[in-house]
Amino acid sequence: MQHDNTRKSREASMDYQPLRGQRALVTGASSGIGEGIARAFGAAGAAVVVNYGGNADAAYRVVDEVKATGSEALAIRADVSKEADVEAMFAEVQRAWAGIDILVSNAGLQRDAAVTEMTLEQWNTVIGVNLTGAFLCCRAAARAMIAQGVRAQISRAAGKIVCISSVHEIIPWAGHVNYAASKGGVKLFMQSLAQELAPHRIRVNSIAPGAIMTPINRPAWETPDALASLLKLIPYGRIGTPDDIGRAAVWLASDDADYVHGQTIVVDGGMTLYPEFAQGG
Ligand code: NAD
Repeated sequence: MQHDNTRKSREASMDYQPLRGQRALVTGASSGIGEGIARAFGAAGAAVVVNYGGNADAAYRVVDEVKATGSEALAIRADVSKEADVEAMFAEVQRAWAGIDILVSNAGLQRDAAVTEMTLEQWNTVIGVNLTGAFLCCRAAARAMIAQGVRAQISRAAGKIVCISSVHEIIPWAGHVNYAASKGGVKLFMQSLAQELAPHRIRVNSIAPGAIMTPINRPAWETPDALASLLKLIPYGRIGTPDDIGRAAVWLASDDADYVHGQTIVVDGGMTLYPEFAQGG
């Protein structure tokens, strides 16, 4: 009997789809964290737009993976740092699905250099994608969400926006001033947006990942020496995976998190705990 109840509750939890009936757009979803979020959203019942900047084959592979979960999916190319691209992408979503319930602003990149060597192009590229891209996508999503209002049978909110920032909205990062500035910018952008959009019942939050195994940070984990050195910064003793972020994003976008607003959820295995202080200080 006990065993039977456990089995039934496990089956019930497998059927639990907190995003059922919702339409989501994930930027930069053809690889890494965005791909993990797209897959997790599909499994949670959401139809997913897989935005990609360049690699169409990879985007269509993610579309197939989302469809394999039983949810709808669509690939749309758009450079998030370009206003015309972003506007055209949201217009296409509107035509295809008549609205949007969830935006995950995830697309991002690094152009690392010592500040004395950093070119204006490296600075502008990172700010343009990581911060201006977030602005352009969040603005377009906010307009659509305000226009559609609350669909009570689908969600308690008119829309949910999740920005993927980084532990580098907290931890300074020498050699990466453009990236750290962009993520620090996302922090107050997200909070100000949350303040402004709350009256429209649009929830806005961020996820700040720690070290997640993706193409963006390959040199930090691809050799045993690099991984060992990285693990010294992670008290929990393992590198994160895109699925770790996907699960957090599903929760944050769902009504289970309906009273969570204007917050950064740090998902980092303890990286922000100043691990070097565990042995002294
Ligand atoms: P990734 O390189 O796999 O993913 C970034 C995605 O953004 C790629 O698919 C890329 O094509 C896309 N992209 C880049 N410029 C674009 C543009 N102009 N328009 C549209 N798409 C564009 O790396 P990732 O680790 O999955 O990064 C995803 C997000 O997570 C980024 O914002 C990154 O800063 C953040 N992040 C990653 C880590 C980590 O450890 N991997 C940690 C903290 C934060």
